[in-house]
Amino acid sequence: MTIAVRKMLVATSKYGIKAPYPMTAEYITVHNTLNDATAENEVKYMIGNNNEVSFHYAIDDREVILGVPENRNAWHCGDSSKGDGNRKSIGVEICYSKSGGPRYEKAEALAIRFIAQMLHERKWGIDRVRTHKSWTEIGVRRGLSRYVKNCPHRILDANRWDDFLGAVKKELDALNKPAETVVKPVYKPAATSGTHTVVAGDTLWSLSVQYKTTVANLKEWNGLTSDSLSVGQVLSVTGAVYTVVSGDTLYSLAKKFDMTVDELKKANGLPSNELSIGQKLSVKGKVAHEPMQAAPKPAPAPKPSPAPKPVAKKKLFLPATADTWRVYPTNKAPVAGNEKGMLAPKKFGGLTYEILKSRGNHIYEIQTSSFGRVQIFAGPGTGAIIK
Ligand SMILES: [Zn+2]
Repeated sequence: MTIAVRKMLVATSKYGIKAPYPMTAEYITVHNTLNDATAENEVKYMIGNNNEVSFHYAIDDREVILGVPENRNAWHCGDSSKGDGNRKSIGVEICYSKSGGPRYEKAEALAIRFIAQMLHERKWGIDRVRTHKSWTEIGVRRGLSRYVKNCPHRILDANRWDDFLGAVKKELDALNKPAETVVKPVYKPAATSGTHTVVAGDTLWSLSVQYKTTVANLKEWNGLTSDSLSVGQVLSVTGAVYTVVSGDTLYSLAKKFDMTVDELKKANGLPSNELSIGQKLSVKGKVAHEPMQAAPKPAPAPKPSPAPKPVAKKKLFLPATADTWRVYPTNKAPVAGNEKGMLAPKKFGGLTYEILKSRGNHIYEIQTSSFGRVQIFAGPGTGAIIK
């Protein structure tokens, strides 16, 4: 879960004292406050006085507070106006470090999670996280700092800096865990119950492939008059159809087909318990096309249609050189403004998808785990490879 940030920003009129330079951050610097104040009081004090001392974030056991915007520098590293600490790093103060104890430990734990979150958002590695001390060591060598500052003291005194970084790394790895793996199995194994509950991205075509049948069969078995599906809709995918005869009740049919009354109603979208003679119902059946022998008046088995020949599917490779790649819903034009989301090939070292359908003009349909079935443009010049 994203850690929220409370803002208590320094007045812009005080930028000259607290944050005089615009900044594009490249590092995160960790500090201990050497104090026992809350994050709120640390920030209040910092933005309230007129000393050339400032920092971006203060973190205590309960919250993260931002005092100086990240696009301004702050004075927290003791390496002058020429040092990278003061000019290129985001300062994070961990509160309650003077006395330590459980409040401090909680503050440090929150800081670890928050720093990992910052790294994740910026696609930065653990090498971006520095100690205040490290900047003053560089500063002393370059004549920018007067002395080496032992900060964050509570971490350094206990020789825990590597542990601290290790904890941040662990959080970061968890955040970076791919939402999309490189190769995704495109189809789920067929359900054994004979029904399929429609999820986002399903189409009659994708279901026909998944359940090794045809679009026409699916439409017939489910009495569909159009190609549109709605999420949550329950479809018969094995073609067991029963025709209601006089004397049937939902209860008797449920018993007959080893279903519950609810399942039967849901599978057929029945609003009430009423049935009419001749009504066709999707019921459980294990084998596609198998007529229900037990039924008093079995519906004629749907015309056997040849199973689609297994065709070697083409694959779409999105190279790792691409940061992001737009995808579009299948029912809208694949143009700017209609995006359903962005894939991140670079993040995952490239992405591979099976092409489910070619729509012409270098537009393809693919199944993604984050956005369901989508359209993607992969024309020449985009770097995409199709084979
Ligand atoms: Zn410090």
